[in-house]
Amino acid sequence: MENWFGEKQTDDVMLSMKYDRILFHKKSKYQMIDLIENKTYGKVLFIDNTFQLTERDEFIYHEMLAHIALFSIERPKKVLIIGGGDGGLARECLKHDIDDLKLVEIDEDVVNVSKKFLPSLSVSFNDSKMKIFIDDGAEFIKNSNEKFDAVLIDSTDPVGPAAVLFETEFYNNIKKILNNGGIVGTQSGSPFMFPEHLKKAYGNMRKIFNFVKVYTATIPTYPGAIWSFTFASSNDIIRKREVNVKTKYYNEKIHDCNCNPKFIDDIVQ
Ligand code: SAM
Repeated sequence: MENWFGEKQTDDVMLSMKYDRILFHKKSKYQMIDLIENKTYGKVLFIDNTFQLTERDEFIYHEMLAHIALFSIERPKKVLIIGGGDGGLARECLKHDIDDLKLVEIDEDVVNVSKKFLPSLSVSFNDSKMKIFIDDGAEFIKNSNEKFDAVLIDSTDPVGPAAVLFETEFYNNIKKILNNGGIVGTQSGSPFMFPEHLKKAYGNMRKIFNFVKVYTATIPTYPGAIWSFTFASSNDIIRKREVNVKTKYYNEKIHDCNCNPKFIDDIVQ
């Protein structure tokens, strides 16, 4: 189909969008990056032909990954993001009164695309608390001497460079750099289309941490629409503070309900 760009989710399912313009197309050192413009969803970022974000619905994913973790910590001061080179997760983290935010993105081209075309996400890069490292997140964590209150993993799916970010060894290395009461949170994929991604993230975190919790959000452009996030800590993960940031999706009721559909409980039982 002419001027249509999409994600082939399985051999017989595809979600596509008509584009007005292709704004960017490049095979970077790690992956194929495309940015299109669609009338309904605004600018849409693809990596290896899979939806990464759209300007219209990115707030759901980024709010849920940032605020469930950070409102479960009394006073989060130091936060580390792995992946997330578009800056959207960093933007949400910076709504908290933190001192220090580090972001480790493997692919400099993702950061540059966001700086050039996605100002509502890359606005976070201008904050003086924020520091960007171009590196493999797994290596960065293995070699880090610093401790953090939260480590948030905003990665691509568990294939290619992101595969290591779903492994037990990686979670074990994160545990070593978390402060007492610290939390790790990751996107853990579509429980509807790819339950094995959630099963893997959850199962591997369970081997390392005492408390592991799954949350979901409805994200229209992601496969299966229901998306999962998995959080882990050595302490129970409960909301510790009143929600005092401006959001469009996340709120106290969503945080506190902790109620998943039965089929998701079945995946992680
Ligand atoms: N919201 C998105 C999703 O789930 O579809 C994720 C978006 S964000 C753009 C994902 C980023 O993770 C990509 O820019 C990719 O380059 C980065 N990434 C993948 N593997 C990585 C690794 N090992 N270390 C650091 N960043 C990595």
